[in-house]
Amino acid sequence: MGYKVRKEVLGLDVYRAGKPISEVKRELGLGEVTKLASNENPLGCSPKVKAALRELIDETHMYPDASNYELKEALSAKLGVKPQQICCSTGSDSLIRVICNAFLESGDETIMAEVTFPRYESGAKLMGATPIIIPMENNGLHIERMVDAITEKTKIIWLCNPNNPTGTIFNKTDFANVLSRIPDRVLIVMDEAYIEYVTSKEFPNALEYLKDYPNMIVLRTFSKAYGLAGLRCGYGIASEELTSYFNRVIGPFDVNLYAQKAALVAFEDEEFLKLVIETNESGKEYLYEQFNLMDLPFIETNTNFIMVDTKTNDKEVFEKLLSKGVIVRPGFLLGMPGWLRVTIGTEKQNQLFIKALGESL
Ligand code: PMP
Repeated sequence: MGYKVRKEVLGLDVYRAGKPISEVKRELGLGEVTKLASNENPLGCSPKVKAALRELIDETHMYPDASNYELKEALSAKLGVKPQQICCSTGSDSLIRVICNAFLESGDETIMAEVTFPRYESGAKLMGATPIIIPMENNGLHIERMVDAITEKTKIIWLCNPNNPTGTIFNKTDFANVLSRIPDRVLIVMDEAYIEYVTSKEFPNALEYLKDYPNMIVLRTFSKAYGLAGLRCGYGIASEELTSYFNRVIGPFDVNLYAQKAALVAFEDEEFLKLVIETNESGKEYLYEQFNLMDLPFIETNTNFIMVDTKTNDKEVFEKLLSKGVIVRPGFLLGMPGWLRVTIGTEKQNQLFIKALGESL
């Protein structure tokens, strides 16, 4: 072929997502399949969202509002930031790439944890930057060591809090101790995709630090607690200046008509969100109890998923669970061989998973 693909693209792998239900049904000829692999919301989304979406059908031929006006107004009012500080895109995943596009080039370094959301690394590599990978401390981010790793080449530090896949958080005190050591030329990305599920009082809500740190961007999403993963909508909050740069890179119509409406309605349905969080809490307690009974170590979580140590070959357990119609995420794909990451489901799904896990070990 005469064409020449950038070497950075040749060096990337395709992202391996959690197996879709349809694929497992097709491959294994199963009728019933439960997916607890991608931290989706087991309750679905708010019924108010479904009703609003039905009403939009006749507008399908129209472009969405490129400014995301209504959504930004609603976010702004509740979060106490200016609409000009908010950028919206096709999931926070897309914003991670936008940040890399805007900031990184060959020769730059960018710091991330060893076991964290893999899109920081792929986004950095795409731009030819060098990911600096910092080992974990007690299965959580070692933020002190991450900050120690800053050099004059560092452009971005990625802090996933709570962290995917470990579900851990770093606390206010530790955060405050390292923040003051991050030079203002380094962009601090606070990925808070799971913030709605956090229960710890010690959790540092990054929004509260934005005023003092104009080099910070906070990422959030409608994919998890709001149950809109299929529609793709996430947002970033930063200084007006930073936001203006990201808005130049984000595609004008990245957040489609349905996603904008759904996000707006979902964001305002606080009752549904409360139910989601309560369901997650009781599911978490049940799974903790069961793991204890099975004598399986697990990592306490501030999210809607739990890392559990199978004490054996996770790939084999994953395959056995699959054959029983339960999809989870095997740790070998996440940098934690031996472990499984399971999304907290409904009561019925959790029971089904525990039964299948017991039979698979
Ligand atoms: N950040 C973290 C930590 C995640 O776990 C995910 C989804 N798995 C994302 C970002 C991206 O989510 P989305 O693109 O659906 O907003």
